[in-house]
Amino acid sequence: STSTRSTLKIGLIPADGIGHEVIPAAKEAILALGSSIPKPEFFLLDAGFEYFKRKGVALPEETVQVLKNECDCALFGAVSSPSRKVVGYSSPIVALRKELDLYANIRPVIAVAPTPEEKPNVDLVVVRENTECLYVKQEVLTTGKHGKEARATRLITERASRRIGQTAFDIAVGRPRKHLTIIHKSNVLSVTDGLFRETVRGVPALPESAGRLDDVTVAEQLVDSAVYRLFREPQIYDVMVAPNLYGDIISDAAAALVGSLGLIPSINAGDTFVMGEPVHGSAPDIAGKSIANPLAAIRSAALMLRHLGYGDAAARIENAVDIVIRDGRILTPDLGGSAKTQDVTAEVLKRI
Ligand code: ATP
Ligand code: MG
Repeated sequence: STSTRSTLKIGLIPADGIGHEVIPAAKEAILALGSSIPKPEFFLLDAGFEYFKRKGVALPEETVQVLKNECDCALFGAVSSPSRKVVGYSSPIVALRKELDLYANIRPVIAVAPTPEEKPNVDLVVVRENTECLYVKQEVLTTGKHGKEARATRLITERASRRIGQTAFDIAVGRPRKHLTIIHKSNVLSVTDGLFRETVRGVPALPESAGRLDDVTVAEQLVDSAVYRLFREPQIYDVMVAPNLYGDIISDAAAALVGSLGLIPSINAGDTFVMGEPVHGSAPDIAGKSIANPLAAIRSAALMLRHLGYGDAAARIENAVDIVIRDGRILTPDLGGSAKTQDVTAEVLKRI
């Protein structure tokens, strides 16, 4: 519980590429909060493709153990994904989500309006199931009558669908519009997406919901038309809940609406642990140039703190970021500016 903590133990896993540039920025933002949170204590931890190339393992056991036994939460940078299969390598972020049972990936996408009084035209949250769907990675290659055949298993369980549904409804009921859209493709995939859709729809009727979610209006949409409408009229969306793969695609697409992947934060949340993670990847094209936008990572730190119960501290970080974006003078190249990562970070720190 938040009241009993005297220190806040935070694992830092920069991993690959620009992770090493943006995670230090997020750390500085947390330090700038001073005494409004318990004294932070940081644990710098290894993982990633670069680490794999040096040591032959992508997620060292020590990293998992420190996270499980020492830390209250963590911030993850990004991993490079080799474009071809590399023997022995599998993504450490996928493994961490499993190890720590971080079943919900929560991605708020918010445009910053020109003035604080105006409503942003995009203000939505993508709630992505984080443990199954095609990401169970059970793929096989065989040879059939006409040559190679590749198959993948798509797992959808009632349990995972129910808990992601509960997460999504809980978020929706706490927002002004209280609107939830279920994303699926059950006209084609009637068994898997059918189970997802039915299970999420059933959440308000569960005994543990006890009438609490009755204010939430529920819509549903096929994933293809959802992407179309997202680009045409993003303002219709409030909370979107989706199986793993659709959620992945929709949240990157939504990121395009607000200008840059470098702005979009997320958390991976379970019942006992939370890990902040910018939505972007390791951005090899700009890594090492000190031009990565640190705002997604900084906002991820804020989301993580809010999830732990430090809502005021989170709001201080988020307001500082909004001011820097609105001001528009000190921004990285992805947003049309010419500032360095450190300059943007310094500007945010000043506002905090
Ligand atoms: P990965 O395999 O690690 O995902 P990627 O090549 O797909 O790498 P992403 O990190 O997903 O690269 O980024 C996609 C594009 O968005 C790249 O051109 C990258 O430079 C840009 N980008 C991503 N994050 C940022 C950021 N924080 N600041 C600036 N540009 C970014
Ligand atoms: Mg990518």
